[in-house]
Amino acid sequence: MKLDTRVWKPLVVSEIERTKHRRAVGSDVHTVRFRDPAGSIRQGEWHGEEVSFGGETYDLEEVDVLPPSDPDKIVCIGRNYADHAAEMDNEIPDRPLLFLKPPNTLAGHGDTVTLPAGKDQIDHEAEIAVVIGKQARNVDSADAMDYVAGFTCLNDLSNRDDQRKEKNWVRGKAFDNAAPMGPVLASPDEVPADADIELRVNGETKQSSSRDHLAFPVPELIEEITTYLTLEPGDVIATGTPAGVGPLSDGDTVEVEVEGVGVLEHDVRIP
Ligand code: ZN
Repeated sequence: MKLDTRVWKPLVVSEIERTKHRRAVGSDVHTVRFRDPAGSIRQGEWHGEEVSFGGETYDLEEVDVLPPSDPDKIVCIGRNYADHAAEMDNEIPDRPLLFLKPPNTLAGHGDTVTLPAGKDQIDHEAEIAVVIGKQARNVDSADAMDYVAGFTCLNDLSNRDDQRKEKNWVRGKAFDNAAPMGPVLASPDEVPADADIELRVNGETKQSSSRDHLAFPVPELIEEITTYLTLEPGDVIATGTPAGVGPLSDGDTVEVEVEGVGVLEHDVRIP
């Protein structure tokens, strides 16, 4: 386990309490993880063009914005919007379709992500991502939101060439850089139940939907997942993508926007 994981994880729940306190006094600060100019990994505050930690403020260009958590696993949900299931000639399944992205897939806001070479179709998939705040096992859906630290944006990059040829989707979904995530962690009450989600490629809108179109909402996903595996603080659930997925090209700029979180932006390199 990486050092910054141990530093970060115990902070999660206290961070929720701090965020609640800030809201009570009329503030709305988002949490950001970043590598400061000296190379230290910090969990600080996001101010749009600047980030801060411990009384120091940095311009965004001075720091390396990191994914807002350091998960051991990303549990992804397939076919969780009816319009996307239909565009892939599928139906909404009887129970959530689950697959995994391991930590090698992580990339951050502002990164240029290098994708596998020689593929015809690597698609973008805009997703609302849930970050877990405390250990969750056999959680009832009625209590599930108690385990959520907050929300962020995620792009579930998908290599269709290989996904269509394999059952376990390792080449299709688990390649390096396949999960750009960020830029911040927004607390649960900052992201409305009908929060908009949108994805743009080079400024052109490709996907547009909202959280209330999820076939299986977040509490049901947490109950189903934790029936089988333990979610640890920092782990992520990628809740599925709406219609409008499509292939990316070398040099593209992708933006994923979730209402209440902000905009995750990354560039694409295909060698
Ligand atoms: Zn997806």
